[in-house]
Amino acid sequence: RKSVWRLSTGSSELDDVLAGGLESQSITEFAGLFGCGKTQVAHQACVNLQSRENIFADEEHISEEEIENAKAVYIDTEGTFRPERIIQMAEAMGIDGNKVLDNTFVARAYNSDMQMLFAEKVEELIKDGENIKLVIVDSLTSTFRNEYTGRGKLSERQQKLGRHMSVLNKLADLHNCIVMITNQVSAKPDAFFGIQEQAIGGNIVGHAATFRFFLRKGKGDKRVAKLYDSPHLPDAEAIFRITEKGIHD
Ligand code: ATP
Ligand code: MG
Repeated sequence: RKSVWRLSTGSSELDDVLAGGLESQSITEFAGLFGCGKTQVAHQACVNLQSRENIFADEEHISEEEIENAKAVYIDTEGTFRPERIIQMAEAMGIDGNKVLDNTFVARAYNSDMQMLFAEKVEELIKDGENIKLVIVDSLTSTFRNEYTGRGKLSERQQKLGRHMSVLNKLADLHNCIVMITNQVSAKPDAFFGIQEQAIGGNIVGHAATFRFFLRKGKGDKRVAKLYDSPHLPDAEAIFRITEKGIHD
């Protein structure tokens, strides 16, 4: 079993909360209301994967050759992947946006079956020699939410989501990948705390994700990311910004 390597989120505060950045062999979830920045964080990860100084690793973790040719898969379930935004972020860092786009496979999933199939295909791509090091699902739950409505469908939905998460976990573990998922939240009444926001997918997603964040808007371009329920890191908050340059402190 290889050791983990890490990828910067673009924000050193956020990296610190993660004890050094997005971690391989793990699933990291970003949940929050619309417009809080989940898709932006996902775009920035694709860009940072192509920039050596944003990868924290040494030879025993991941070889220089693997870093040099690292590729991302972006499973886009909402049609919100924007090549122009990738180029804008890349140029702000002084790297070639077209290189990022060449090394990012975007797969548009129109329903949950396609989404699950794409995740399974990543394994085949890797076996065919593609050096996939980052897998993003943006968003994890929107297709499931649309297709499995009502109480009667809940257990079927959860079963399928569970299978999807185990495919993603296997990718992370077996191939030393970073897996990032985004998720919506729902508001649920809580006896003690009033209205509580919860990530969709319940325990099935909760147990499969190693690092879970709630994102919320702060003042202006500021965003607050709160880490919660980590098996080995304390709950903590990071403040970062989203500007035309991308994600940064
Ligand atoms: P949803 O749940 O709807 O998918 P999300 O959490 O994915 O929402 P994003 O699309 O990541 O939200 O964030 C959108 C926000 O990011 C915008 O409201 C804006 O504040 C910021 N943003 C996006 N593009 C730019 C840009 N080019 N320059 C500056 N800020 C930007
Ligand atoms: Mg989004």
